[in-house]
Amino acid sequence: MPIYEYRCRKCGRIFEKIQKIEEGGDSLECPYCGERRPEKILSSFCSFKGSEPSSSCGSGSTRFT
Ligand SMILES: [Zn+2]
Repeated sequence: MPIYEYRCRKCGRIFEKIQKIEEGGDSLECPYCGERRPEKILSSFCSFKGSEPSSSCGSGSTRFT
């Protein structure tokens, strides 16, 4: 099951949500302040820390548009 990370536009906190595809993302709320429509950010599956490049991350073939 995919886990997505979101950043609240209001308080700036980052939180993770396990998101079922059929639920969509528009009903999300910040767990800290209740602000809706958080900004989706990259999953930590592709490590920010950069210690080991993961072949499953697509290595540059897929990018944000
Ligand atoms: Zn918030």
